[in-house]
Amino acid sequence: MNAEHLLPAENASGAERNNHANKGTAYYYDAKLYNQSGAGHFFTTRYGGVSGANGNVFNASFGKEEPSRKGNVVENFKIAARDHGLDISRFTALSQVHGETVVNVTEEIAGARFGKPGLVIEADSMITRLPFVPLMTTHGDCLPVYLYDRGRAVGMVHSGWRGTAADISGKTVGAMAREFGTDPGNVFAAIGPGICGDCFEVDYPVARVFEERFPEVDAVKWDGARGKFLVDLRAVAVYSLVRAGVRRENISAPEVCTACERNRELFFSYRAEKGRNEGLMGAVIWLEK
Ligand SMILES: [Zn+2]
Repeated sequence: MNAEHLLPAENASGAERNNHANKGTAYYYDAKLYNQSGAGHFFTTRYGGVSGANGNVFNASFGKEEPSRKGNVVENFKIAARDHGLDISRFTALSQVHGETVVNVTEEIAGARFGKPGLVIEADSMITRLPFVPLMTTHGDCLPVYLYDRGRAVGMVHSGWRGTAADISGKTVGAMAREFGTDPGNVFAAIGPGICGDCFEVDYPVARVFEERFPEVDAVKWDGARGKFLVDLRAVAVYSLVRAGVRRENISAPEVCTACERNRELFFSYRAEKGRNEGLMGAVIWLEK
């Protein structure tokens, strides 16, 4: 692998980040998932693509593609595919709708939006047992949840607040058990960069959803100074996985936030940039067998 191996954002100094900006691509990897054999993964940053006003931004989102720059997302992932020794035509992406549908990526739909550009499937979670079919979801604060049934299958989940409230990660583990015979005790899960419990401000109707559906999780706080509720989506996602049978010691969930000021130069954030973010990050996992 000749890609830059970027350590978790908390560990990257400003100088290192600037260095990445000058040298091209930079990816975030979960250190524990990185050490699992039989699967590969990455999470893109702002750096190293051909999108944006100056043509040097890595945007992973088809929905964020400027009309004058159609084809940029595929060009960006050609770079990522080359960096990781993958075939661009096998990358598979969804049209995300903040739902709870899990799609089993079979040969018929492998390559959706890449090798099969006209194939658009609305869903927020994918699983597959096909080797070297990279599953890609896009993120700009919503949690990426990587699932690896060691040696057998992978799953990639887009878990925004609606998906998290709908238990999408637990449902994806359930779908892997149903479709592939996955034993949740054999699953390794990594939650990648996403909004933290201090940045995710919500009003009462959203806070109440989490209080009602996840009373066992201490995920909601009231911040009187801001006059807002704060919800820790990562804590809820971890709980969902454990409830689905994944062992706590097999879940990596470092608190790397896309909205916190210190990570702003590395990641796009829908919240922090008030929807004016010029791109989104891509979360990718694949089975190697
Ligand atoms: Zn934060």
